[in-house]
Amino acid sequence: MTGPSSLRTSLENLLGPGAVTFSPYHAPDDLHDESLHPVAIEPFAVTYPTTTDQVAEIARLATRHRLPMTARGSGTGLSGGAVPIPGGLVVSFARMNRIRSLDADDHIAVVEAGVTLRDLDAALEPHGLRYPVYPGETSGSLGGNVNTNAGGMRAVRHGVTRHHVTGLEAVLADGTVVTTGGPVVKNSSGYDLTQLIIGSEGTLALVTAITLRLSPRLAHTATVLAPFEDLRSAAAAVPPLVASGLEPSIVEYVDLVTMAAITSASGLTLGIAPAIAARTSAYLVIVLETRTREQLDADLEHLSALLGGRGVLDVYVLEGAMAQRLIEARERLFWVSKAAGANDLIDVVVPRSRVPAFLAAATDIAARFDALVAGCGHIGDGNVHLSVFQPDDERRRALMLALLGEGVRLGGQISGEHGIGRDKQAPYLALTDPTLVELQRRIKLAFDPWRLLNPYRHLDERAAP
Ligand SMILES: Cc1cc2nc3c(=O)[nH]c(=O)nc-3n(C[C@H](O)[C@H](O)[C@H](O)COP(=O)(O)OP(=O)(O)OC[C@H]3O[C@@H](n4cnc5c(N)ncnc54)[C@H](O)[C@@H]3O)c2cc1C
Repeated sequence: MTGPSSLRTSLENLLGPGAVTFSPYHAPDDLHDESLHPVAIEPFAVTYPTTTDQVAEIARLATRHRLPMTARGSGTGLSGGAVPIPGGLVVSFARMNRIRSLDADDHIAVVEAGVTLRDLDAALEPHGLRYPVYPGETSGSLGGNVNTNAGGMRAVRHGVTRHHVTGLEAVLADGTVVTTGGPVVKNSSGYDLTQLIIGSEGTLALVTAITLRLSPRLAHTATVLAPFEDLRSAAAAVPPLVASGLEPSIVEYVDLVTMAAITSASGLTLGIAPAIAARTSAYLVIVLETRTREQLDADLEHLSALLGGRGVLDVYVLEGAMAQRLIEARERLFWVSKAAGANDLIDVVVPRSRVPAFLAAATDIAARFDALVAGCGHIGDGNVHLSVFQPDDERRRALMLALLGEGVRLGGQISGEHGIGRDKQAPYLALTDPTLVELQRRIKLAFDPWRLLNPYRHLDERAAP
């Protein structure tokens, strides 16, 4: 027996009851991610393996039947990367969620791909350790973080996912299990396949386990809210701040509209004096973290003086719960934008000094397309998040190409952290050097000769079905 019915039987035998669903009986959540482009696609099967051997056997079966495979972590991605292929097979890592080892001396953890950021943090806290990368959605899985090279608010100090992953266990399309790197903080031994797989959005391999580098938790934290008269002066304060040696762990900008939206959605009153509020049109949110209270106080003083010389209207040091609530409100921005009807999301990264130029151009471009853009961003690393409001699909596609093209023209990249996925496949191909695309296609074929791993993504000349 060959074809879908034999595949169905093989998957049922391999995984056992309750660990595979078939169309049309899938859990609705498995059919989409959190992209603002609402699609829900029915694959042939959604599988929930619990071991690497099962993942390898699923890949072998899919390859034998030439079925496309889409890896799925927690489905919190924002670019359609985990959206299934019609009639294909989803490999969900939701049940591969064990922490295999935690070494408090070497500051290394080995985790399965389905472990969430939230669960990892809870496991590390008693050891005084943390995984310092901080993408805003803590239900995201480490496998998803690895495959999007997730960033988040703390990248300005700690870097992004790829700076904290030292090794991977992964399954290739034909079922071969490979192990790259290891529990070491340096490695000059051959091509760095760990780094090649990071950010590949499920197109090179199914990542089953990840070796992570951990950091000590720092005990003393202060969150500073700094209002400015305009975005240009807020942005101009960022390069000297980053150069100051204060090593802020978060440097975010939030425009006026966005701050109003996120504080009102969270019921948060910032306590800004009315005379200051009346003159404010942009904010910086800065977090300092240090080992001792004395050092924190000295750093806060230095920060106030630095901002004072750069046109800040006032400096508010938020304590405890209020600080936490502001960061949480900022994390919730995506949901606030979604509820307000945003049609798309920009995640362009440019050199940090060019953020004001990009934002000025973005406002002009949006006006040309009768659209509105508003947002915030990880300005310490030049990563701009803009919600785009333009419901007409054709106009929005042209607008997005113009906005992303402007980012590239300023020396930037289309995506700083969300990835290309389905949503930005066309602009990626339009704006990327064809030589780079071709070289990546050759690498892809070395890993996945039948092009079965998450096809119709950034390298594929075929539009996503
Ligand atoms: C409210 C909100 C805030 C967010 N804030 C941030 C932020 O600050 N910074 C940031 O970087 N992102 C942010 N994100 C986006 C999202 O959380 C990240 O992209 C995250 O890395 C996705 O993880 P996931 O487990 O949900 O992956 P999924 O959405 O399930 O998958 C993402 C991609 O990775 C692939 N993939 C997943 N698991 C595997 C695996 N084991 N092997 C191979 N491929 C795999 C998928 O095929 C897909 O291409 C935010 C999302 C939301 C909803």
